[in-house]
Amino acid sequence: MKYYSTNNSNFKVDLKTAVLKSLPPDNGLYMPERLNSLSSDFISDLSNRSFQDISFRVAHTILQDDLEEETLADIIEKAINFKAPVVPITEDISTLELFHGPSLAFKDFGARFMAELMSFFVKDETNELDILVATSGDTGGAVAAGFAGVPNINVTILFPKGKVSPLQELQLTTWGGNIKALEIDGTFDDCQALVKQAFLDEEVNKKRNLSSANSINIARLIPQSFYYFEAYKQLEDKGKGVVFSVPSGNFGNLTAGLIAKQIGLPVHRFLAATNSNNIVPHYLATTTYEPRPSVQTISNAMDVGKPSNFTRMMDLYGDLWEKIKTDIEGYFYDDEDTRFGVKYIHKTHDYIADPHGAIGFLAAHQYLKDNPGYKAIFLETAHPAKFLPVMNPLIGEFPIPEKLTVLREKESHALGMSKEYGEFREYLMDSKGS
Ligand SMILES: *Cc1c(COP(=O)(O)O)cnc(C)c1O
Repeated sequence: MKYYSTNNSNFKVDLKTAVLKSLPPDNGLYMPERLNSLSSDFISDLSNRSFQDISFRVAHTILQDDLEEETLADIIEKAINFKAPVVPITEDISTLELFHGPSLAFKDFGARFMAELMSFFVKDETNELDILVATSGDTGGAVAAGFAGVPNINVTILFPKGKVSPLQELQLTTWGGNIKALEIDGTFDDCQALVKQAFLDEEVNKKRNLSSANSINIARLIPQSFYYFEAYKQLEDKGKGVVFSVPSGNFGNLTAGLIAKQIGLPVHRFLAATNSNNIVPHYLATTTYEPRPSVQTISNAMDVGKPSNFTRMMDLYGDLWEKIKTDIEGYFYDDEDTRFGVKYIHKTHDYIADPHGAIGFLAAHQYLKDNPGYKAIFLETAHPAKFLPVMNPLIGEFPIPEKLTVLREKESHALGMSKEYGEFREYLMDSKGS
């Protein structure tokens, strides 16, 4: 399989280049040049297959012969080693819990798969790889957990000062070793802009072997399509059809769902559920795409004003709004709605959903009200304990997983930095910076 740039379909590279370079030089995003289909037998036989087996088949269908089957199987066995259970909430709405990995967010799937793939690709290289990653909260923790201690790879995490939850921050700053955290005096968009600028900076690239772990990396996207199949498998009553409600920020998760559909998963519709940063729902309602500076919300991992995967969504549908509209419907909720959602799910259905998942629930609920007979699955994208300052005032105290409580005992280190590129550049050019 070759991977082309969304800015120039004639520019093509192999998997290793797409994964290690992350971005094409023309500032587009990599996409597989073809999406092959799974057989209908595979879909009807899903219930007889394990999550790892499903993951292998889906990955193989996307990657074709980019990797030896044994290598791919080995990567999947190491990366996709925790469950993704579907839990019923109402008669028609279930949740797909994606928080059973090491950092308790769905981003573990992408980060672990990417870490395994990258370490496979660099194992014979002499040059160290420098991974830059901007995080709105959960990416950094997942990437840090995926790459901690991996030889020949250094990770620099940029996070917006004061805009990630205290436990999320500890997931970024308590690693040491090959994981560095930079606390940027700005927003997530500023962090993302710094990373993008570094990639386009020739001099920095001469000095550093840069790569990115953001959802722009194709290696993160691919494994996120696995669990749509796994969820579909687990849902016994599929009603008139299955709808996935995806709490979205940079739209990597939703794009992975679209890929799952294109390669054969029978999804009736996707719901693009956002907070007040409603760029994509606005586009779906009006045909106008208007990125704007992000606003801060209580679902902070979705505070994105310029969703990076929008380009890929356009690419998948050939820029045709009418076509996109048949597959995706947009919903957005402000913080007051979100708080209501968290309380409502807890009180009425005795389930603790985090603020992001609550937005997914609200969209599913609204969709089913207007379209009865379908079954909806909302993605529970992170464990609620990652957002205690928001959650506790709404539903009181609840148990915190040990994976999080142990962080409070660890030492935290982050280097403070302004959002000006010059300072970040200096950090990158200083060879001792990593
Ligand atoms: C990253 C994240 C999202 C948004 O996912 P995208 O793929 O960027 O749309 C939603 N919820 C949580 C908890 C996240 O960490």
